[in-house]
Amino acid sequence: MQNVTGFIVLADISGYTKFVRSHNMKKIPFIGKRAMETTESHAEHIISDLLEKVIEELEGTLTVNKLQGDAVLFYSNPKNLNEYPKLLIEKIQGCFEVFIKRLNDIIFCESCPCDACHQMGNLRLKSFVHYGDFLIKKVSRFEEIAGENVILAHRLMKNTIDSDEYILFTDSVKQICDLDYLGKIDNRVEKCEGLGDIPISVFYPDKKIIDNPIVKKMGMFAKVKAMNNYFKKAKTKNDIIEKYAFQD
Ligand SMILES: [Zn+2]
Repeated sequence: MQNVTGFIVLADISGYTKFVRSHNMKKIPFIGKRAMETTESHAEHIISDLLEKVIEELEGTLTVNKLQGDAVLFYSNPKNLNEYPKLLIEKIQGCFEVFIKRLNDIIFCESCPCDACHQMGNLRLKSFVHYGDFLIKKVSRFEEIAGENVILAHRLMKNTIDSDEYILFTDSVKQICDLDYLGKIDNRVEKCEGLGDIPISVFYPDKKIIDNPIVKKMGMFAKVKAMNNYFKKAKTKNDIIEKYAFQD
C-alpha cells in the first residue's frame, strides 16, 4: 500500500436514456427479446469504442485504474507540478476532440433501427478532475485507488450542473493550476453527500456534432453496409479490460 498525492480523474459518457440502459424491452411482445439484444450489444459496442478512444488519449499522462459502468477512473502522481497540470488539462481537452470525432466517424450507425444507435448523437463526455491524497493498494494483480478524495471525485459525478458536456475541477486543482487561461469558467458550489459544500470550477468545451460530409454523401445502402462492417466484430468492455488489465 502506497500513500500518494496526485490527480484523480474520471471520464464519463452519458446520453443514453434509461430505456436503453434498462432491460424493459423484454416486455415488448414478439420483437422484445431480439430488439433488446441488438440494442444492448450496440450500446456496449459504441460505448466501449468511445471509451477506448478516451483511454488512448489519456494513457501515458494518467494511469487507467478501473472501468465503472460507462466511466473510466484514472490517476497519476506526478513528481513535478510545474508543467504537468497544464499538460493534463490539454490531454483532457483532447479527449473531447477525439470523442466527438469518433462519434462523427461512426454516425452512419444512426441508420440502424435500434434505440442505442438512434440515440448515439446524444452521447457526450464529462470529466472530473481532483487533486489530493489517496492510497494505491495492490489487489491480486490489480491496483486499486482508495480514500476520501477518491470518494469525493465520485460523489461529484452527481451534481446540479445543467449540461452533459463539461470538465469539472475541484479547488485543489485550481490551487496548483490557474484555470483562467481556459476562458470562461463557471465557479460554483456543490453539496456533496457526507462531505459538505465543495467549491468547484467548471469548463464547458462545447463540442458540437458537425455534419460528417462522407457519411452525408452515403446512400442508405452504403450506410447499412458501413454499419454492418462496424458491428461485425462485437466490441465489449471486457475487451478494454483485457487490453489494459484493470478491474471491472
Ligand atoms: Zn443499433
